[in-house]
Amino acid sequence: MKNKKLIFANWKMNFSSEQARVLVESIIDKLNKLELLKGTALKIDAEVVLAPAFPSLSFVSSLIRHTGISLSSQDVFWEAKGPYTGEVSPSMLIDVGCTWAMIGHSERRQYLLETNEMINKKVLNALSQDLNIILCVGESFEQRRRKNTFEAISDQLRRGLRGVTESQLNESEVVIGYEPVWVIGSGEAASVEDIASVHNFVSDELKSIFPTLKSLPRIVYGGSVNSENIEQIASLSNVDGVLVGNASMDCDKFCDIVLKVVK
Ligand code: PEP
Repeated sequence: MKNKKLIFANWKMNFSSEQARVLVESIIDKLNKLELLKGTALKIDAEVVLAPAFPSLSFVSSLIRHTGISLSSQDVFWEAKGPYTGEVSPSMLIDVGCTWAMIGHSERRQYLLETNEMINKKVLNALSQDLNIILCVGESFEQRRRKNTFEAISDQLRRGLRGVTESQLNESEVVIGYEPVWVIGSGEAASVEDIASVHNFVSDELKSIFPTLKSLPRIVYGGSVNSENIEQIASLSNVDGVLVGNASMDCDKFCDIVLKVVK
């Protein structure tokens, strides 16, 4: 899948299972009408991943079975099992149909005080169970203002990926989600110049971290992606897909994004 564009929907802490059912069924229906999904399977040169909240994972998994749409959690814990009340392990996620886990989202770094060390343990644990991961990195407004964007991202990448081996990267997928924190949920994406320059930087960092790796992790952009800006963002040569929050929770907007990425 590494050469395909990735369209990753982060539903955050939203939707009852009934609301999730309506959204998933509408997405499947709309993708069918757009002829992006024929019969029951995706017929596009892109990968679509839905990340509902934990309680809806199992249910959404049953709705997307055989469609080619994949399932992700929004987090995962760093231990395999045991006395960790409230946490969820990689094998539990795999058990309900997840093939992906999102790790290090800026909202978790901000509200749950997740550090790069915690994120690193989650990354290593997920990869040890062959779960694909999307590792989110991005600078805060303050870091950007102080012109520390590259330094902040380098730190998140190097500490987040510490101990990850090239052979693990050949077995599972690691995707880097570049999400400038100051842009998430703002309604306005970063400029294409900024996106291109940070993606180039991330790519150089990955080459330096994994010097002999043939196929580098994909790098996707997230932060106020919508149906108006998607064409410009997706056309950048170093953007391997998008991580979509708000716009992924609206069937028409999300399907329009999928359509514009693949056409
Ligand atoms: C996100 O939270 O991962 C995200 C990209 O949100 P939004 O698209 O709403 O900025």
